[in-house]
Amino acid sequence: MKILVINCGSSSLKYQLIDMDDESVIAKGLCERIGIEGSVLTQTVPGRDKYVVEQPMPSHNEAIRLVMDALEDSVHGVIKSTDEISAIGHRVVHGGTSFSESCIVDENVKQVIRDRFDLAPLHNPANLMGIEACEAGMPGKKNVAVWDTGFGMAIPEKAYLYAIPYEYYEKYGIRRYGFHGTSHMFVSGEAIRFGGLDPKTAKVIVCHLGNGGSVSASIGGKCVDTSMGLTPLEGLIMGTRSGDIDASVVQFICNKEGKSVDDVLTILNKKSGVLGISGVSSDFRDVGTAAAEGNHRAQAALDAFVYRVAKYIGAYTAAMNGVDAIAFTAGVGENDKDTRKKVCEYLGYLGVKIDDAANDVRGKNTIISAPDSKVKVMLLPTNEELAIARETKRLTE
Ligand code: ADP
Repeated sequence: MKILVINCGSSSLKYQLIDMDDESVIAKGLCERIGIEGSVLTQTVPGRDKYVVEQPMPSHNEAIRLVMDALEDSVHGVIKSTDEISAIGHRVVHGGTSFSESCIVDENVKQVIRDRFDLAPLHNPANLMGIEACEAGMPGKKNVAVWDTGFGMAIPEKAYLYAIPYEYYEKYGIRRYGFHGTSHMFVSGEAIRFGGLDPKTAKVIVCHLGNGGSVSASIGGKCVDTSMGLTPLEGLIMGTRSGDIDASVVQFICNKEGKSVDDVLTILNKKSGVLGISGVSSDFRDVGTAAAEGNHRAQAALDAFVYRVAKYIGAYTAAMNGVDAIAFTAGVGENDKDTRKKVCEYLGYLGVKIDDAANDVRGKNTIISAPDSKVKVMLLPTNEELAIARETKRLTE
């Protein structure tokens, strides 16, 4: 069974064709600059040279057509015909309060995606375009929506309500949703499996530390809290996002600088985080290099980032009244042993002990805590595409 996984941005489309018999990647690719000049598709097949197609892609429809052509190409392709694709799984960012579970796309699902354009104005329109392009290009195939907000929808009322007038929750659905759900679902499942934990009771904290970052807490694979909120702005300090902030800061900057609320929100989303504090970069490697060279603001940014992650772990340990495993994932979590170690240095009171030799590893499933650590600490690479493919298989088989 072959599943095509699609992740659409407003001007990009990432895809993977996965063989579900052994969960291997048959081909993956990226369409860039959709709707703007200089569109290009790049496809990678294990063991082969990259295949690059430079052709105009005025919309996602042309992009999907090019993806199909690249997959079927007689020289560079991997399938004879798209008939070999059993179903298509789509990452969809916001399902509002309507969906906590992945589902097969129908008109109702498309309407929910449209209804939540207000909460995910950059992502949901692109996700819908991707679905409609697949419907047009491969009619009759089942499309599955896997929601980025899905995993977080399980959190209880006490965790999702903002302490603002209740009518805003009722009228507009203003509550905490959480994002990176596919990654948190995948990694918390891996933590239970790889760590040999009890699938019914395991208390797991997942730290997804990439350019965007979030922490989740789950008991028996069910999310009980997660750090992102109505939008991905809440929670950790990220590459360019501020994370948690006193809302009065917005008003204060507006008044001082004559800016609009929209302007300040753009600053909080795109110019803050480790970029904002350091003034160096949003890329953690650049900030790390600057800090090592003695740049105080770069070091301050990294210290604040680590401190915030540790605070969330402390909060979620309290929320669950304990923790069995802490897992690190995504770009920073999978590659940066210093960040993992520094976060864990705050957690001595939990009996967390890191094994430095075990922690000296990148990008593969590893237990990095010492054998006598009270909590298992792990590095577990995330794989959102595989998680989407598994959901798609489960629903369409
Ligand atoms: P996203 O998917 O949110 O764009 P990723 O999960 O790919 O992000 O993570 C990207 C981040 O990971 C970048 O800021 C990058 O600097 C960081 N990163 C990658 N490798 C390392 C490393 N060896 N040390 C520190 N940070 C790293």
